[in-house]
Amino acid sequence: MAEDRFDVLVIGAGPAGLTAGLYASRAGLKTAIVEKGAPGGQIATTDLVDNYPGFPEGILGPDLSQLMEKQAVRFGSQLIYDEVTGLKPREDGSWEATMYGGAKVARTVIVASGAYERKLGAPGEDRFRGRGVSYCAICDGAFFKGGKVAVVGGGDSALTEGLYLTRVVEEVTIIHRRDEPRAAYDLQQRAKANPKIRWILSHVVEGMEGDDQLRRLILRSTKDGSLQELQVDGVFIYIGMVPNTGFLAGVVERDEAGYILATPSLQTSAPGIWVAGDARAGSLAQVSTAVGEGAIAALEAEAYLGRWEAGQKPPWPRLEKVTL
Ligand code: NAP
Repeated sequence: MAEDRFDVLVIGAGPAGLTAGLYASRAGLKTAIVEKGAPGGQIATTDLVDNYPGFPEGILGPDLSQLMEKQAVRFGSQLIYDEVTGLKPREDGSWEATMYGGAKVARTVIVASGAYERKLGAPGEDRFRGRGVSYCAICDGAFFKGGKVAVVGGGDSALTEGLYLTRVVEEVTIIHRRDEPRAAYDLQQRAKANPKIRWILSHVVEGMEGDDQLRRLILRSTKDGSLQELQVDGVFIYIGMVPNTGFLAGVVERDEAGYILATPSLQTSAPGIWVAGDARAGSLAQVSTAVGEGAIAALEAEAYLGRWEAGQKPPWPRLEKVTL
């Protein structure tokens, strides 16, 4: 049987990956996008994307995901629902991507594998996962209709999802370890003005307790160490992200947190592999920057394939953590 061979293999179908697929397939390159979950990545489980240009009223994350997917597929990108577990170099300069459904070979690879939610590591977190502990408000918010929930974190995600939850539950308590959130000004203003949101600042979650369901959080003050209990029906944890790059250990250079190092044109340390979006060291983790990075990576891959066909070896510039 002839092996599946692509010009461009994109890993991840979030905004970066779908845009890379759109650009690569539109350039006439045989392109596959591999996705282990649902197309859209993080925006597939985001309520409202309010800062992506072209949608003055904002757009629902799942709707934007579907539109991006449709556009990539329209130009010929093939979506493969599988998980890339490793990349191996081949003698001819191409890469073999191992997957559960069988390996695929590609002359270039664009890593757009994004990042996933960090766990808190508090006692009870694993025990009550799915029984009160959640990492996705849009997926699980409805289970707590009319109830009281907490959101842990002070970044854009915590406040965006806290605001979403106010539409479903009676009360949202945002618990943040410092006395000031780091979220964007606009989000802070909206959250502070929302009567359903209350704040417990300068506290961390010390433990989670309950019976067959989570019932209460044990909170510790970061100012004086005092403890207090908070009765809740659920808790949503939004304390930042971890990059999905474990499968690339030893293949491309990563920083100490696992983010992939790249040049300003998004080349990784491995020839023929680019990185776009939240998995990249220095990424701004915005939909609008992710799509830009997807486009850059695809255009760079296209140019590389052109040089490959002309028999030229590209120079390999120095890697750094770049904020584009
Ligand atoms: P983030 O910006 O890294 O914020 C993480 C928050 O969790 C911080 O407030 C941090 O506290 C807190 N935290 C971290 N570890 C903790 C721990 N062990 N215990 C308690 N609190 C902890 O993460 P994010 O909110 O998920 O956002 C990730 C990226 O996506 C950001 O670049 C963000 O701008 C972007 N994003 C953008 C939008 C939007 O534009 N609408 C929406 C969502 C996300 P400290 O502040 O004390 O460090």
